Amino acid sequence: MAPAAPLVCRMCGQVHGPVRLKGGENALCVRCGGNLAKGSRLGPDAPLCFAISGLAFAVPSALLPFLSASSLGNVRTSLLFTGVRSLWLGGMQPLAVLVFLCGWFLPVLLLAALAALHGARRMGPPSVNCLRVSELARSLEHWAIPEVQVLAVLVGIIKLGSIFTLTIGPGFWCYCAMALSLLLAQHNSDFAPAPEPIAADGSEPAPSP
Ligand SMILES: [Zn+2]
Repeated sequence: MAPAAPLVCRMCGQVHGPVRLKGGENALCVRCGGNLAKGSRLGPDAPLCFAISGLAFAVPSALLPFLSASSLGNVRTSLLFTGVRSLWLGGMQPLAVLVFLCGWFLPVLLLAALAALHGARRMGPPSVNCLRVSELARSLEHWAIPEVQVLAVLVGIIKLGSIFTLTIGPGFWCYCAMALSLLLAQHNSDFAPAPEPIAADGSEPAPSP
C-alpha cells in the first residue's frame, strides 16, 4: 500500500495529525490559522457523486444537438464543438483551442481528477498519489470554466432571438448539468489529502464550526 500523506498547511508548511470533521466544520492550522480542510454538509461522498454525474453528462453534451437556428424555413443545428470548428476554420486557432480547453476538455479532466481523488479516499487511507491528484485538481480549477460558456450561449440566444428562431437542444441541457455538477463537486471538495492523514509531528488541526 502507498504511504499515507501528511496534512500540510499550504500557507506555513505546518504538518498536522488526523482529525474527523463534521459537516460545515473547518480544520484550521494550529500555527497560522489557515484553512486546511472542510467537512461537506452533504456527506463525504457528495463530491464523488457530483464528479461522476458531471462525467456522465459530459459525453452527451458533446454528441447531442446543442442549439438549432431556423429562419425562412432553413434550419441549422449546432453541436457543442461547432463554434470551436468555426473559429478554427476562420483563422482564430488560438481562440478555438482556448474555448475547447476551458469549455470542455479541462472541466472533464477536473471532474476525472475529483472522481479519482474522492474515489481513492473512499477506498482507503490517502496516499502520496492523492496529493498529486489534489494538486492537479487545484491547478485546473482556474482554467475549467464551463459556466462562462453557458453564459455566452444564453447571451447569444437573447441577442439573436429577434433574428432567428432558436431552439435549445438536449446537448445544451447536458452541458449545463455538467457545469453545475462541476461547481457542486468543487464546492464540496477541500482538495486536501485528508480526511485522516498520518501525523508527522503529532500536532492536530483545530476543528472550528
Ligand atoms: Zn499554517
